[in-house]
Amino acid sequence: MAELTALTIAEARDGLKKKSFSAAELADAHLAAMEKARALNAYVQETPERAHAMAKASDARIATGKAGALEGIPLAIKDMFCTEGVRTTASSRILENFVPTYESTVSAQLWRDGAVLLGKTNNDEFAMGSSNETSYFGPVTSPWRRKGANTKLVPGGSSGGSAAAVAANLALGATGTDTGGSIRQPAAFTGTVGIKPTYGRCSRWGIVAFASSLDQAGPFAKTTRDAAILLRSMAGHDPKDTTSVDRAVPDYEAAVGKSVKGMKIGIPKEYRVDGMPPEIEKMWEQGASWLKAAGAEIVEVSLPHTKYALPAYYIVNPAEASSNLARYDGVRYGLRVPGRDVIEMYEKTRAEGFGPEVRRRVMIGTYVLSAGYYDAYYLRAQKVRTLIKKDFEDCFKAGVHAMLTPATPSAAFGIGEKGKADPVEMYLNDVFTVTVNMAGLPGIVVPAGLDGQGLPLGLQLIGRPFDEEAIFSLGEIIEKAAGRFSAPKWW
Ligand code: GLN
Repeated sequence: MAELTALTIAEARDGLKKKSFSAAELADAHLAAMEKARALNAYVQETPERAHAMAKASDARIATGKAGALEGIPLAIKDMFCTEGVRTTASSRILENFVPTYESTVSAQLWRDGAVLLGKTNNDEFAMGSSNETSYFGPVTSPWRRKGANTKLVPGGSSGGSAAAVAANLALGATGTDTGGSIRQPAAFTGTVGIKPTYGRCSRWGIVAFASSLDQAGPFAKTTRDAAILLRSMAGHDPKDTTSVDRAVPDYEAAVGKSVKGMKIGIPKEYRVDGMPPEIEKMWEQGASWLKAAGAEIVEVSLPHTKYALPAYYIVNPAEASSNLARYDGVRYGLRVPGRDVIEMYEKTRAEGFGPEVRRRVMIGTYVLSAGYYDAYYLRAQKVRTLIKKDFEDCFKAGVHAMLTPATPSAAFGIGEKGKADPVEMYLNDVFTVTVNMAGLPGIVVPAGLDGQGLPLGLQLIGRPFDEEAIFSLGEIIEKAAGRFSAPKWW
């Protein structure tokens, strides 16, 4: 049998059912692998005691025939999800010692179904970033390297720890949050599968708020099937989040392997951006021909407002972030740096508690929301957002079931290589992913190939609202055709 950490969730589920191994053995194999992989910095906290206790309880339930859908499956949780009694930091100094007294709805649903917590994963501070380099706990190193080189590469961000953990076999699956691409971009960089479901599909309750009209939770997994298994547990209506939608959660796994015959797939011509590496262009065409061979119809479509998505996102996002982060004032949560009076205490706490990217977003956000600029920036960005959404709606109305696009404009880059002098250089990474958050649509990224340097590249499928099933069916076709990729072990 394959190493326990190399299994997929579906395989582990079978093995546990057949009693080929126990949940305790499965958890132990992962905890041992995590210990050996500390150089990757994927976890900000390992929770071996909790993992042992949960695995033991899973084994007891398996023995009595009461196993849940994820019984005994060891998972990593992004440190944006509040975990009761387990420190939750958002990878920020300001929350360095914050231990929540409650559990996020999404993680609670995973535990309800029997999953086992291995630890909390690293991310960009407050999920602001595309490389996991803004974390207070330091960057995550990708398990992937360029052929013949040992340059340390980023795993993408903001959910870099979750992506690296799954890619390096340090968890069978992981949670992420995606506000502008933070699940899909790291999935593309690490050869894993990541899905951002429709806005409202998962509850945001208990997730550290970043930009509330864009934030969604979703899973990372080794395969499309595994992502479908995880999303079924994570999704659902929650009265504690009024933006979560009261709609039955389908059996997403049943969509994996379903025929896509007759589905109309749009290729948005505006995604053919200047300077796109020819390898990505080629892979995109290859993806379209795989879907065509499976019986889908490929059509060129136009999303004319695409070019405004990035600038509009980088107004809406900081505006909401600046408002959400106002709560970190040294009074109620986390760090407090004393001052002569309360104003100085606020100032010192926030200056020392937040890193440079977070401070930048708070300043931009405050500026675009301020009297006199609100109409010129924030209101205008909201109008652009409506137009972006309408572009997609028009295509869907014309019969398109899903869109196929590249996931990122490049493969993974080196730690320290991008965005130092100009933060916009980093923001440009999100060019293919932010539109999906602006429109509230579901988007999945699946690995589609390796580039000339041996690094994974991903393709994105964007679906109609609440039609995650279609993109699971389509994603699996690409995954099957491309094959799976794993990083050669060096750590
Ligand atoms: N890279 C984007 C940003 O920095 C997206 C982050 C995210 O999805 N959390 O805003």
